[in-house]
Amino acid sequence: MNRIDLGSSVVVSLSIKGVKIMQGRLSTFRREELLLTMSGERLDLLVIGGGITGAGIALDAASRGLRVGLVEKQDFSAGTSSRSTKLIHGGLRYLKQGEISLVREVGRERAILYRNAPHLVIPEKMLLPLVKGGTYGRIATSFGLWMYDRLAGVQKEERRLMLSKEETERQEPLLRKDILKGGGLYIEYRTDDARLTLEVLKTAAIYGAACVNYAEVTSLLYHKGRVDGVQVQDRYTGKAYSIFAKNIVNATGPWADQLREMDGSLKGKRLHLTKGVHLVVPYHRFPLKQSVYFDVPDGRMVFAIPRNQTTYIGTTDTDYSGNLETPRATRDDALYLLNAVNYMFPSVHLTVGDIISSWTGLRPLIHEEGKAASELSRKDEIFISDTGLITIAGGKLTGFRKMAERIVDLVIREMSDESKISLRSCYTDQIQFSGGEFGSPDEIPLFVRELADEAKELKLSENDIRSLVQKYGTNTKKILAKALLLKEEKETEDCRINLALAELEYGIEEEMVTNLSDFLIRRTGKLFFERDIITKELCKTLLHHLALLFSWSEDEQEAHTIKFEEEYRNTVEFL
Ligand SMILES: Cc1cc2nc3c(=O)[nH]c(=O)nc-3n(C[C@H](O)[C@H](O)[C@H](O)COP(=O)(O)OP(=O)(O)OC[C@H]3O[C@@H](n4cnc5c(N)ncnc54)[C@H](O)[C@@H]3O)c2cc1C
Repeated sequence: MNRIDLGSSVVVSLSIKGVKIMQGRLSTFRREELLLTMSGERLDLLVIGGGITGAGIALDAASRGLRVGLVEKQDFSAGTSSRSTKLIHGGLRYLKQGEISLVREVGRERAILYRNAPHLVIPEKMLLPLVKGGTYGRIATSFGLWMYDRLAGVQKEERRLMLSKEETERQEPLLRKDILKGGGLYIEYRTDDARLTLEVLKTAAIYGAACVNYAEVTSLLYHKGRVDGVQVQDRYTGKAYSIFAKNIVNATGPWADQLREMDGSLKGKRLHLTKGVHLVVPYHRFPLKQSVYFDVPDGRMVFAIPRNQTTYIGTTDTDYSGNLETPRATRDDALYLLNAVNYMFPSVHLTVGDIISSWTGLRPLIHEEGKAASELSRKDEIFISDTGLITIAGGKLTGFRKMAERIVDLVIREMSDESKISLRSCYTDQIQFSGGEFGSPDEIPLFVRELADEAKELKLSENDIRSLVQKYGTNTKKILAKALLLKEEKETEDCRINLALAELEYGIEEEMVTNLSDFLIRRTGKLFFERDIITKELCKTLLHHLALLFSWSEDEQEAHTIKFEEEYRNTVEFL
């Protein structure tokens, strides 16, 4: 079979009103071309949904040699995959639920992802305080963490450490002392869920997958009772496309049942959606020395994780049946998390007024009769309808690579011997994701120092560069080169604005940024973790640049501004 490179024709540069813009494989300027290419031939596989599950499937399938397309109705990762706790878990809590095989799988996956994308998967010590009346007792914790280390294949130097009461107090002085009995210190890995999804999609595009955001599947197309295509509407241009494929995978997370309904195959097991809220407060208001996973009086457990100049807290877990695109946090959700912090860290006294940002996600879990939200299994399941629509739902961010492998194995199993002859078996464990091209994670500190040296003129500190590298990895070079160019052209004297403009242009060239929310929420996380730099002036400059590059009319610019202001308010106002 000839492998056709759907998404990677030559990178060319455009000059738009004096601004030189390159067109990478996921350039915003290529959306239409990619949709036309997809509709111009019969694909091997079409993936519906551009969250981490869909992205992983696109990468796995394209890297094995299949012709792949992916369509996402909002921005990439705008569903659950930008709204998680942002941890690549070893799955400690599943141990308590007896899900041994899940702990083993996600633990191993964590080690693989660390190699795939070392810039985005960062080891971090997590403190589990042991308290009177808490979830975990000392012996159970010691055994549980020991078992977790073994199952997850944790390296010797990263294995758990049990702490006395005094040691735990020293480790985290803000902890409540009267109920503290001791603690356990273990390794979690933090990530940026939205960026991980993007890097996987960018890598899939390198292998030839055509991936487009704001492209909604509005109906399914059939031939002799078998699903063989989809009708897609471009949410920006309103144009409709028919895309045909030999296999269609529904990887729409919380929307999976809507697609099954569209297919007339929603029977048997269904989704059970639960809502999880996270709050962000300034670091100085909750100055944790390190991440903590702590007990809440109602028997649940909550994370508090320092990040940049903030600390974030989450999560809640309540049944949900409202709007899927814009789930919102209520005041009760916020108070629940604030009370949890104030109970375990009594000197902190957080109030609603301290919240600078928040996000709310929906877990697409599989319903189990009689079980409460937090007891439902996080395992993934695959459904194949009579028409051939393949649905994958449930699961975790951490397990996406294995989920993709299972789906692509299934697709290939059904292919004729002749068409699968040239296809490889799964090797995504060997692939370095875009930005992750470091020989080993140990090289990152040197890379940061060298870049800091090269980009001295930009007046960025080593910390600034490190935080860029933790977003873009090796691609940081491209952004700094752009920022230097903008400085030379004296776009503005303000280095931070120059850098933000450079990131925005990179986002348009290589990550399909179409509006300000794509950029400030999902490409950079600035709306959550760099709130102090989101000034009116910066937003105005970025919107102006977007309007210039996309030739927005005044009305369009106004509409985009209103949309962004609404999303901004949703992160600080509660229902
Ligand atoms: C609060 C919370 C915390 C979590 N924390 C963690 C964690 O720390 N670690 C971890 O490993 N996991 C975590 N998870 C789980 C993890 O986030 C999810 O399992 C994962 O993100 C699901 O990804 P997905 O791609 O299946 O779904 P989504 O990310 O929701 O992607 C589905 C996509 O399909 C698109 N779509 C829907 N309908 C259509 C259509 N008609 N046409 C085209 N596109 C369509 C949607 O717009 C959406 O973007 C958490 C989940 C929640 C809610």
